[in-house]
Amino acid sequence: MPCTGIHAVPSGPIEFPELVYSFVICDEKVVMIDGGVANSIMDVSFLDKLDYLVITHLHIDHIGLIPDIVSTYKPKILVYEGFKKYLENPDKINKTARQILGELVDIYGEVKPINGDILEVKGGEEIKIGKDTMKIFYTPGHAKHHISVMIGDVLYTGDSAGGRYYGIPFPTTPPPLDLEKYISSLEFQISLKPRVVGLSHGGFTSSSHLLEHLEQIKNNEHVDIDLGGTQGEILRRHLEINYKGLEEARSKAVGNKGLSQKP
Ligand SMILES: [Zn+2]
Repeated sequence: MPCTGIHAVPSGPIEFPELVYSFVICDEKVVMIDGGVANSIMDVSFLDKLDYLVITHLHIDHIGLIPDIVSTYKPKILVYEGFKKYLENPDKINKTARQILGELVDIYGEVKPINGDILEVKGGEEIKIGKDTMKIFYTPGHAKHHISVMIGDVLYTGDSAGGRYYGIPFPTTPPPLDLEKYISSLEFQISLKPRVVGLSHGGFTSSSHLLEHLEQIKNNEHVDIDLGGTQGEILRRHLEINYKGLEEARSKAVGNKGLSQKP
C-alpha cells in the first residue's frame, strides 16, 4: 500500500532514538530527508518505495543508515555539489566526526561507503513530486555544504536552524562554525514563511521556533536541557560541543574586527 502524509521517524542511536529524526514525505513520489545514524533501529517498514533521499549535510548522525536504505529502496540521492566523493569514500567524514564528537562516534557508528544514484545540487532546484514540489535551498553555516528542503508549507532545516527538546530551542553549532552564514541562513529560512519546521534534532514544530532560535543566538543565551539518564548525557555532550563552536566563532569574529580597525 502506498504511504500517505508526512512522518518524523526516529533515527538516532538505540540509546536515544529521538536524538535524530529522518522525515518521510509521501506524495506520488516518496521523499526521505536524511538517513540517521548507523546504529539505529529506524523503522521504515511502512514504505513500499522511496524515490528520493535528500542529505541535508554529511555529518555521521544524518547519513549512517543510508547504505541499508539504498540497498532496499534504491532512491536517487541528493547532496550538495562537490560532495558526492565523500559519500563514496567516507574516511574523511568519519575522521572529522571522531575529532569533533569523540566517543559519541562509537554510540552512533561509523559511516560506510554510500554508492548509488547520487545527484549533486546547489540550491534553487525544484522537483515535482506529485501534488507538491520539493524545493532545495542552500543554507550554509552549520556546514558549508548544508541544504534545506521545503515541501508544501513545511521546511526541513537539517541542522541549519537549531534543535528543540521539551519546547526549548538550542543551537546546532559544532566547530568549525561559520556564525555569520548560520545567522543569514536562519534569517533566509524565516523569510520563506513556513507553517511548520522539521528539525533533525527535535522533529516537527511550529515555525515560531526559527525566530526564537535566532534570538537566542543573537543574544548569546545558553540553555541547559536535562533529559536525564543516558539521553541526557548524550544531549549534554552535544550542547557542550555546540557552545564551543559558538565561542570559537565569536572570538574569531571579534579578532577579525580588531584587525580591520587597525590603520
Ligand atoms: Zn546533526
